[in-house]
Amino acid sequence: MPSKRRSSKRPYGQPHQDLDVERLAGSVGARREIGPRGEEYKVAVPRPSDRTYLCPGCSQEIDGATQHLVAWPADGLFGADAAAATRRHWHTHCWNTYGRTRG
Ligand SMILES: [Zn+2]
Repeated sequence: MPSKRRSSKRPYGQPHQDLDVERLAGSVGARREIGPRGEEYKVAVPRPSDRTYLCPGCSQEIDGATQHLVAWPADGLFGADAAAATRRHWHTHCWNTYGRTRG
C-alpha cells in the first residue's frame, strides 16, 4: 500500500473536489425547487464523472456518467459553501418522486 503521498502538501489543505463548490453555491445553472421535506433546495445537473454516488431516494448507486441531479439546501445555516458541501446526488426520477407521493 503506497504511503508516501503525504510529503506533497496541497497549498490550502483541501482535497480536490470534482464539482466546483463556488460555482454551485453561486447557483449558476442551478434552479430552486421544493425538496422532499418541503424545504427549499437548489438543484443542478452535475458534469459527468467516473464516480459512483448513493441516491438518498432509493439507496441505490448512481453511475456518475449518467445524467442525474445534485441538490443542496438553498438557505444553509452555515453559509453557501457549507450548504453546497452537503449536496447529495439523486436519480432524476427519485428526486421528482421522493416524499411527494403522499396525498
Ligand atoms: Zn434513486
